[in-house]
Amino acid sequence: MKLAIRKYGDPILRAKGRRIEEVDDDIRALAENMLETMEAANGVGLAAQQVGHALQLTVLDVSQVEDRPSTMKLNGKSVPDLEAEMPLVLLNPVVRLGEETELGSEGCLSFPEITADIERAITVELEAETLEGDGLRIEATGLLARALQHEVDHLNGILFIDRMSSAAKASHSSRLKRLQKESDRL
Ligand code: ZN
Repeated sequence: MKLAIRKYGDPILRAKGRRIEEVDDDIRALAENMLETMEAANGVGLAAQQVGHALQLTVLDVSQVEDRPSTMKLNGKSVPDLEAEMPLVLLNPVVRLGEETELGSEGCLSFPEITADIERAITVELEAETLEGDGLRIEATGLLARALQHEVDHLNGILFIDRMSSAAKASHSSRLKRLQKESDRL
């Protein structure tokens, strides 16, 4: 089932996600619906907050973006074909950032029509749990590294505008105000 995507201005986007201690049918159904919602919106990632749940749960799929490559190691082993491991469903993720950073373009399904260059770590290491209750460790670069940072931020109530330069934020201010007003009306 496709879920409604919450837009900027909705207070749930600022809520820190609760840890998921037990995977039950509700969590499995939510993950399934989030995958369907992300795919329908052509997104590379979606966090539980964006569909109205303050939980440590996110889904990602970077395999359809051909012009922005990624590398991925899963539990220490290189993944030659990213598509084989996508989509990812990650519970309770914790990310460790590499020291070097770079600017790269980002958008967000909760901020339609807004993109901006955001500074992010080039490499990340992430530990999370799967729906099956297994632990996993991902080392990533490229778009996957960026998307993981963006999604883990969501799970902590942090939005990409918080990481925009003040100039970029100023250039989007009227659009941001409009989004906020629209959310207030809902
Ligand atoms: Zn986002």
